[in-house]
Amino acid sequence: MVLDLSSLLSGKSSRIDFEYEIIQDDEENDILPPDDVSFTAPVRVKGYITDNAGYMSLCARAEIDYKSRCARCLEDIFGTFILEFNRTVADSGTLQDETNDEYVIVKGGKLDIDRQLVEDLMLEFPSKLLCKEECAGLCPKCGKSLNYGACDCPKKKEIDPRLAILQKLLENDE
Ligand SMILES: [Zn+2]
Ligand SMILES: [Zn+2]
Repeated sequence: MVLDLSSLLSGKSSRIDFEYEIIQDDEENDILPPDDVSFTAPVRVKGYITDNAGYMSLCARAEIDYKSRCARCLEDIFGTFILEFNRTVADSGTLQDETNDEYVIVKGGKLDIDRQLVEDLMLEFPSKLLCKEECAGLCPKCGKSLNYGACDCPKKKEIDPRLAILQKLLENDE
């Protein structure tokens, strides 16, 4: 969305609040989720821009709802990913390098942060999602989810490979 900063730039106000959703059928803001992830609602953006004696900064927070699968147990998960988006706001022509990521650029009194925001969102979106931190995953033999208790597969004592070498050395010693 294009934000009109004219009241800020003219000194009439020192703060502009905004809240909107990024419409995803807009080609420019095409939001491609990572594999195995689908976004179930538009990106919600909320924030403000303040002017402090000519130094403008933007604080925003973007939220996106997703559906995905746990990387360990493959169960469906639903969640909301939150991105904090904070930038310095600069007027076009005042910077040597306008591609610097620390800045968002005002052009003709207007500011559009959506492209940078979506880029950041895709960059920061976790590549691996878990249903819960301590997800026990699936049994590699029978495929049963171990989150609901142990499966019936015979349990072999797993020996750390490093210990196994030690054990072998000890056995040879005897
Ligand atoms: Zn899981
Ligand atoms: Zn099993």
